[in-house]
Amino acid sequence: MKSILVIGGGLVGAASALQLQTAGIQTTLIDPGDKRRGASFGNAGHIGTEQVSPWSSWENVRRSPRSSFLVGGPLDFRWRDAALLAPWVQRFLASCSPAHFARGQAALAAILGDALGAWHRVAELSGAPHLVIPHGHATVWMNPEAAERGRGAFGEAPAGPAKTREMSAAELERYSTVLGAPPVAGVLFEGTGQVSEPQAARDAMLAAFVSAGGEIVADSVARVEANARVKLQSGVTREADEVLIAAGAWSGRLMQQLSVNARVIGERGYHLQSADTDWPFDLPTTVFEENFVVFTRFTSGLRATSFLEFGSPDAPGDARKWALLQRRIADLGVRFSPEPDRWVGSRPTLPDYVPAIGRLERAPKVLYAFGHAHLGLTMAPITAELVLALATDQAPAIDLASFAIERFS
Ligand SMILES: Cc1cc2nc3c(=O)[nH]c(=O)nc-3n(C[C@H](O)[C@H](O)[C@H](O)COP(=O)(O)OP(=O)(O)OC[C@H]3O[C@@H](n4cnc5c(N)ncnc54)[C@H](O)[C@@H]3O)c2cc1C
Repeated sequence: MKSILVIGGGLVGAASALQLQTAGIQTTLIDPGDKRRGASFGNAGHIGTEQVSPWSSWENVRRSPRSSFLVGGPLDFRWRDAALLAPWVQRFLASCSPAHFARGQAALAAILGDALGAWHRVAELSGAPHLVIPHGHATVWMNPEAAERGRGAFGEAPAGPAKTREMSAAELERYSTVLGAPPVAGVLFEGTGQVSEPQAARDAMLAAFVSAGGEIVADSVARVEANARVKLQSGVTREADEVLIAAGAWSGRLMQQLSVNARVIGERGYHLQSADTDWPFDLPTTVFEENFVVFTRFTSGLRATSFLEFGSPDAPGDARKWALLQRRIADLGVRFSPEPDRWVGSRPTLPDYVPAIGRLERAPKVLYAFGHAHLGLTMAPITAELVLALATDQAPAIDLASFAIERFS
């Protein structure tokens, strides 16, 4: 029986481990076990099939001064992490060229095409179909000028398999029960959705993985070798036929040990979550565009997420960001606990905002799946299906050439 070690138990590692084990590959998942460490814990839970345009674009570069945290925007850089930032920014700027952007858009459109379908399949496999709530999502505006600008931009932007339409007055009015005033306009997306709770989704996948005979090792990989042997922090050595690197924003360090420069950075985001909420379950994930806040109703409460802060995935949170997020929530008039759960975590982001999924050319026993940036929850199940195809030498459902990490060498 073939065997594989999966490094990293975020949504990408957990979904991959489940697919591999279910297909009859003896799979061991290695993760230190702190649920809150990875981005998979604290994200907005949105299955964002509409996000086919990479963030690496000249449009975003032009907008960046207005998006800066210094002027109240979500974008910030941890200047103490300048050694990480400089080479990443250089690659990012190169990825903004129209040709690069078009390649990235084609790659994202391909992988997102069946991302919601893959969520339904993995939820079934986990014995928890109720995890996926395919009720679309909304982007809304609180003032008419912003609405005018925003609606125009949405009209022109490609949205993959999702469909958009203007929200009706009745749909906007529903928000008056949870906001100080209802939005003046909004766009509703169909063909997108959310999970009932990101951590519940991961727990369900891991439980199904263990039931299928998979092994979980609570440890951290200190060293990975090209022959699929790993040395753990505890000093123990493990080996298998193959190894999958799925360690989110920490994957770059492991790839470095294999002489691959992966340039994945921590694109840190923040959340506040309130167990005390009157936000109804059937109000879909809502993006308040001018306020830079996304609200999602989970089983355990209402979560507000925000910020794009580039730096090390291990840096502590910036208290000013939680304070600003709390003010924005109050300004919107949303009922929220005065002492909400505070979380910071790192989107694993490559300079071109396209994930790395493939088999390493220079070390064919090494598979990799990381760098899912803003879309790791969305893409985890489809990525796991692609990983399974690679591990079983089947043709993947989409062409993986644009996802090869060698594109950066
Ligand atoms: C605020 C915020 C909101 C977001 N909202 C959304 C959203 O709505 N929709 C969406 O699709 N995406 C969203 N994302 C992005 C998404 O959360 C991530 O892309 C995704 O969780 C990445 O999953 P992952 O498994 O690759 O990495 P992670 O979840 O970060 O998991 C990596 C795991 O690897 C482990 N690890 C690290 N090093 C080692 C090692 N050496 N040995 C063993 N284990 C190791 C870590 O401990 C961790 O458990 C959001 C992210 C943030 C921060």
